[in-house]
Amino acid sequence: MHAAVTFAFWLPTRYTYPNTAPTYGAQPKTRSSFAFLVNCQDYCVCPQCDLIWRTRKEIYLSFDNLGLSPRLLEAVAAMGYTSPTPIQRDAIPMVIEGRDVVGCAQTGTGKTAAFVLPLMQRIEAKPGGPRALVVTPTRELAGQIEEVALQVAKHTKHRVAVVYGGVGYEPQIKALKRGVDVLVATPGRLLDLMERKVANLSNVEILVLDEADRMLDMGFWPQVRKIIATIPPERQNLLFSATMSSDVMRVVSSTLHDPVRVEVAPAATPIEMIDQRVYPVGGQQKSQLLVHLIKEQNLDRVIVFTRTKHRADRVAKVLHQAGIRSAAIHGDRSQSQRQSALDNLKSGRCRVLVATDVVARGIDIDDVSHVVNYDLPNTPDDYVHRIGRTARAGKSGTAVSLLAPEEHETLRDIETKVGAVLDTHDAEGFDYSHARLVPNPERLAARSVRTVYSSSRGRGRRRR
Ligand code: AMP
Repeated sequence: MHAAVTFAFWLPTRYTYPNTAPTYGAQPKTRSSFAFLVNCQDYCVCPQCDLIWRTRKEIYLSFDNLGLSPRLLEAVAAMGYTSPTPIQRDAIPMVIEGRDVVGCAQTGTGKTAAFVLPLMQRIEAKPGGPRALVVTPTRELAGQIEEVALQVAKHTKHRVAVVYGGVGYEPQIKALKRGVDVLVATPGRLLDLMERKVANLSNVEILVLDEADRMLDMGFWPQVRKIIATIPPERQNLLFSATMSSDVMRVVSSTLHDPVRVEVAPAATPIEMIDQRVYPVGGQQKSQLLVHLIKEQNLDRVIVFTRTKHRADRVAKVLHQAGIRSAAIHGDRSQSQRQSALDNLKSGRCRVLVATDVVARGIDIDDVSHVVNYDLPNTPDDYVHRIGRTARAGKSGTAVSLLAPEEHETLRDIETKVGAVLDTHDAEGFDYSHARLVPNPERLAARSVRTVYSSSRGRGRRRR
């Protein structure tokens, strides 16, 4: 009891720790470090406060104290995770406690495990499922969630199935008929299967809405509402969204019961790990510069973002002609084409994936070394999402933006969003034969973006 009270003392006040004592399982190491912490608190003027601090950090950074059962801890260890990410640390205890959770976190923060691990602890593996339903906007995300759920299920013996459009019905129908505990689905195909009376959601106890903001953006909300209407209202709801706009909150507020909000600063951590570079270039020379950079710097595992599907195809073609193995993925590509492009990048068969924003936002590929903004994105938020494809799970990465003269305004908005002036670079050995516009070098000396741009932005607003 004393231990539990002491532990609560060290947690930031905004946490409501589960009423039940944390599960330690067979973790004597943690038990002893925990005891050490108690001792130190007992003697609060501790001559070794450095040690106290380290012990506290250990407790924060361990999965052992989140309330996960020994089986789930086994799964965590098998997945190779040694310490929880912030969203996992915050969300897992709340989900285990049975609370509704609103998680504001983007892909790359470890959010999938943040809901998969505790939900699999809460639901029983037994006939009559699914007991947990995860609704997510894209097939790629559904596949990634399934992958994590299957890894955990090896230890918990839950049955996991995934249903999404663009592929045949038969295997999915068979999987549902065999019985499923955790169902991962995109909205359209799930509704389809419900209408065919193959999917029955009347025993769902936990509903996860993943990437709620994107489902809203992509116009899926009417379908999601229909799905929600068939699930028993006394369920637990978990909602994850990269952004928590008032639109999202408006549409989901009636679904949630007294939710706990957990949040990781959107992209703040990844951005610090990313070397963000701007290469000013004439618009006509972008493809040449891209080829030059990839070859010159011997880049591998690159994702190149373009504004349109057409440009994605064109860039992939140029790269191909230059002898750089690449593939394009966008909304016009079939599911199998998209999947094989992703597999090829993962396996190293291709070096570059050229993608549009809609498809690429949820892609989870480890070790992407470079993200290239062939075109700057339409919104600063998209920039943050794009560059978040690199520097995953604590690694570093590089984001390169090819800056055409007409994109300077967009760059300003991005710099304001990320709170930094991005470094401008020249590509060594590249023949800049077309006119380009290099951003004012003085802005590099400025310490704050606000100082650099506030006057011109202010004038712009007044004119309107
Ligand atoms: P997600 O945000 O769920 O797409 O996760 C992004 C990446 O982080 C995936 O490649 C996960 O395997 C990895 N990941 C998730 N949780 C952890 C963790 N606790 N430690 C290390 N890597 C993790």
